Amino acid sequence: MTTSTALEYEGLLLQSRDRLLHDLQQFESEEEEPQLISGGGNPRWTNGADVASDVQEQESDFVHLHRLSRRLELVDEALELLRRDPEEFGTCRYCGGEIRERRLQLVPWSRLCSQCARGEAGLEEGA
Ligand SMILES: [Zn+2]
Repeated sequence: MTTSTALEYEGLLLQSRDRLLHDLQQFESEEEEPQLISGGGNPRWTNGADVASDVQEQESDFVHLHRLSRRLELVDEALELLRRDPEEFGTCRYCGGEIRERRLQLVPWSRLCSQCARGEAGLEEGA
């Protein structure tokens, strides 16, 4: 990998990192908002559908948050690898093959080639 290509991927990774941090911060600021439902001594009558959708929303928020922080970890790892060992960046961790440039442009934190990502090895990555 040439120095300019490495710089290009570093730029892509830093952009992804900024976006992820921004998204994570939005989640945190949402959590600080007062909870209207639990306020006061008068239990508010809600129908079952409302409660169910609240629970569902919380769960998917949690899953989403987990995905974001997992992806942030992958981005950080990729950045570290790119700076420490640019030759290793773009090499599939599973089969040792080359990760195609088109895939790296889309998923710069990818550690697997598209073939391996489609198989079992890709389950962890979620990309
Ligand atoms: Zn592979």
